[in-house]
Amino acid sequence: MARPDVVIFGGGVAGLWLLDELVRRGHDAVLLEASRLGSGQSIAAQGIIHGGLKYSLAGSTTGSALGVKQMPGVWADCLAGRRDPDLGDVTVRSQTCLLWRGKSLGSRLGFLGARLGLEVTPRMIPPGERPDVLVDHSGSVAVIDEQVIDPASLLASLAARHPHRLFLYDPVHTDWRLAGPGQVVELRIRHPWDSLPGATLQIAPRSVVLAAGSGNAMLRERAGLATGAMQRRPLHMVMVRGEAGRLPELCGHQVDGAHTRMTITSSVDPAGRTVWQLGGQVAEDGVSMGRRELVAHAARELAEVLPGLDLAPLEATSFRVDRAEAATEGGRRPETQSLLIDGNTITAWPTKLALAPALAAQVAGVLDRMAPPAVPGVSVDLEAIDWPRPEVAQPPWETATDWLPVMAAAASRQAA
Ligand SMILES: Cc1cc2nc3c(=O)[nH]c(=O)nc-3n(C[C@H](O)[C@H](O)[C@H](O)COP(=O)(O)OP(=O)(O)OC[C@H]3O[C@@H](n4cnc5c(N)ncnc54)[C@H](O)[C@@H]3O)c2cc1C
Repeated sequence: MARPDVVIFGGGVAGLWLLDELVRRGHDAVLLEASRLGSGQSIAAQGIIHGGLKYSLAGSTTGSALGVKQMPGVWADCLAGRRDPDLGDVTVRSQTCLLWRGKSLGSRLGFLGARLGLEVTPRMIPPGERPDVLVDHSGSVAVIDEQVIDPASLLASLAARHPHRLFLYDPVHTDWRLAGPGQVVELRIRHPWDSLPGATLQIAPRSVVLAAGSGNAMLRERAGLATGAMQRRPLHMVMVRGEAGRLPELCGHQVDGAHTRMTITSSVDPAGRTVWQLGGQVAEDGVSMGRRELVAHAARELAEVLPGLDLAPLEATSFRVDRAEAATEGGRRPETQSLLIDGNTITAWPTKLALAPALAAQVAGVLDRMAPPAVPGVSVDLEAIDWPRPEVAQPPWETATDWLPVMAAAASRQAA
């Protein structure tokens, strides 16, 4: 029987960052992953390390802005290797994000961040220094020091810090023994494909953390807990791709009043093409649309948001994904990371990728009291076990198949 201090369920950014935090604090912790690391939200994230401006566009400080305001500094230190976890090998898509809109951007944004006490605030870019795609933009363009990271390389970097603490498992072939709601006594985990007798892990954890994103609903049920604690907020994301010379790399937000009309982040696919992910309002609007309709809608939006962009050589597709968070009244986004404690079980959602360090510190603080690092006793050494280990999930543009020519999709919608 293995008796680790902590078993974490779920190897997205929340679970992996927490695993590292716990090991650094001296806990004996392992992580169980049901699929590929980051499947669901983390691999699909746009990777922006928000500093709060996005949540302050209405002109006042919000709980969301305050919760996230320290995060760009924490991430910058990790990405530069000045602080643990050392994320020096993570790909940074961009050191900054652009912000642009119509005429009033300059007057509002120039002072907004500073007035609200945010750590990162926008600076205006003089017309001669704008990126080509925004040269003809009639309004002002600003830049903000919010880094944009590549989630696949982040997941790989965090996983590589503790490869022998990661276990692939099948939730269906796992038995839970409980002493009451949320009081987990023992987990019996059958090998994912080896059915020989003895191919079972027996784990008696001192505490359990559910960090499986939308998988937390099912896991809470297995732990004898109420499932209504979680909400899903759906998105229908568009991806646009084109040859590097035709689609420039760009990370930024087109701001419309108090919200982001479109958030663009870019990456490079294995064939060397630029791929844009389109989030913001366009992905919220897309939830009620089919793929072709959404691509046509996104084409119209792009034509307005970036009039200088030639859409003719571009292709697009889409994917659906749910944001999984602690339930709130009215289904609004929680202001910051969330944590529930029941018995020896903690359920955790970071709400934003940027908040993973804050969530890990908060959960580890609770576990330092709940299950302080034990003196190693007579226990199976899980790390030494020969067991399948999970791989990192593939980015959505590597698995998508149904790419449509953007102009053809737009034309067919007009004809319809
Ligand atoms: C399209 C999109 C764009 C986003 N962009 C940003 C952004 O730019 N900046 C930002 O800060 N935030 C962003 N977010 C939010 C951010 O991605 C999430 O808050 C964060 O990734 C959630 O991480 P997680 O580890 O909790 O969950 P997930 O990333 O969903 O990971 C859950 C993990 O648990 C595993 N799992 C599922 N069920 C089980 C089970 N039963 N047992 C064990 N394992 C299980 C999954 O396979 C997965 O590995 C974005 C979200 C989306 C959807």
